[in-house]
Amino acid sequence: MKGIQIMNCMRVFIWCVVLGVGSLMVWGCSSEKGRAMNKGNVSKLGCEQKVLYAELTPQEFRRRVAAVPIAYLPLGTLEWHGEHLPLGSDGLQSYGFFIELAKEVGGIVCPMYFLGPDRKRVIDGVEYYGMDIAENMPEAKGYPTQQLAGSAYWVPDETFGTILDATMKQLSRAGFRIVVGHGHGPSTNAFKQYHDEWKDKYGLETFNCWGGPYDRQGLGIQVDHAAANETSLVMALRPELVQMERLPAVDQGWPVGVGGRDPRTMASAERGREAIRLNKERMAKILREALEKLER
Ligand SMILES: [Zn+2]
Repeated sequence: MKGIQIMNCMRVFIWCVVLGVGSLMVWGCSSEKGRAMNKGNVSKLGCEQKVLYAELTPQEFRRRVAAVPIAYLPLGTLEWHGEHLPLGSDGLQSYGFFIELAKEVGGIVCPMYFLGPDRKRVIDGVEYYGMDIAENMPEAKGYPTQQLAGSAYWVPDETFGTILDATMKQLSRAGFRIVVGHGHGPSTNAFKQYHDEWKDKYGLETFNCWGGPYDRQGLGIQVDHAAANETSLVMALRPELVQMERLPAVDQGWPVGVGGRDPRTMASAERGREAIRLNKERMAKILREALEKLER
């Protein structure tokens, strides 16, 4: 008797789940379709909004590339970003921003890099990279040059150029016509340099996310180092990874290896969301114009 009752209960439960998930899918589909209306090629994608390259099947990949041939390349690092932010902050921010942008414009988000170039000094036979080196910091924000915990990303400029070039060749071969690369500052600067070369070699148009009017206001995408801007973006995208309590109190000195406006007084998830909203709007306009040019 008891077994039959349990079986009946299970049946009712399974039907509830099936009906519930089914209606959610219908709702999801119609709302995605609604949003995609009048947005050119994105409407061809129907309700499909899987945007991560690594998760697509060949059929899903073909449809997305045919509709909108844009690849997004998050340029990450495993690098000290203050005591309060995760080591993968650079990739997590650009990856998170690109997912939102790809859902708006179409296109596919590549996995994040974690190798990148940076400045290097050798002192007494020991190599120091990027934020390890305190020499360019203003006096009030200075600290002794040191190996900051967790950083493991540095490659020489030429090596990074080779990695990028191979990536561009492969993305072009796979059918992309536009690549947006952004993230870690020195990686993004390197990416910018090759614009004309990749256009000639692979017929690719490339963009990064800097250059808007918001950068100077601290509302760009990754326009400082672990300070108010990057902290706000991680707070908006991955709040569970931020530990503000790890930073010293405001009257206890400047946090080590943090460059820019004070994250302790100026960072917030709202500020991060505002930066994402402003730059998504700006980049969507740039990319839609670039897509139109491709079609001409
Ligand atoms: Zn960063």
